[in-house]
Amino acid sequence: MIMIGKAGSGKGTQARKIAEEYGLKHISMGDVLREEVKKGGELGQKIKEYQTEGKLVPLDITLEALKENIDENNLFDGFPRNLEQAEALDALVPIDLVINLQIPDETAIERLSKRRQCKKCGAITDDTKEKCPECEGELYQREDDKPEAIKKRLELYHDVTEPLMEYYKPRELVSTVDGTQTPEEIFQEIKQTINEQIAGGQEQ
Ligand code: AMP
Repeated sequence: MIMIGKAGSGKGTQARKIAEEYGLKHISMGDVLREEVKKGGELGQKIKEYQTEGKLVPLDITLEALKENIDENNLFDGFPRNLEQAEALDALVPIDLVINLQIPDETAIERLSKRRQCKKCGAITDDTKEKCPECEGELYQREDDKPEAIKKRLELYHDVTEPLMEYYKPRELVSTVDGTQTPEEIFQEIKQTINEQIAGGQEQ
């Protein structure tokens, strides 16, 4: 299963919950790459430059990271983000469902500027919290959640990620969910979509 959405759409939060609910391996490409940055080294430094500017990390790096993490039943969060990644993923695993979590640009900008992430467990929260609500870890604002990078990330989304809906459309894989609902409402809607998909698969 794939979760696609703009930065700030809540795809990370939902992906964690959905993966837990259905026993899927949650692969957040952003988190995997940030882990590589934390390790330091030449590759980490290179990735950091792309991330700080809100640019996409090159295919060979993301694909390598993906192959290291892939399991039997995966939930891909933030991958693919362009056509060449979608084609590369198709060559690796069959795709059953694509959730398109949709929000307006203004909502993305508002959410991202308030967003804070836990240094320890990676949980996402906002600037009204002092510590991570999940593990009490320290919170920080990501470099790429600053205004210039947000703008760049949204442009990239419209240019190269949004067209992916057309790529998956002929296979009838895409289900669009309104990401402006409450997290619980979104969770319920995604679950319903998955359950219908499972039921449909069993009927065949
Ligand atoms: P995210 O945490 O999903 O918002 O991703 C943060 C940053 O990581 C992006 O702005 C990119 O620089 C990089 N990144 C995440 N996913 C990908 C991907 N599929 N391809 C290339 N770069 C990515």
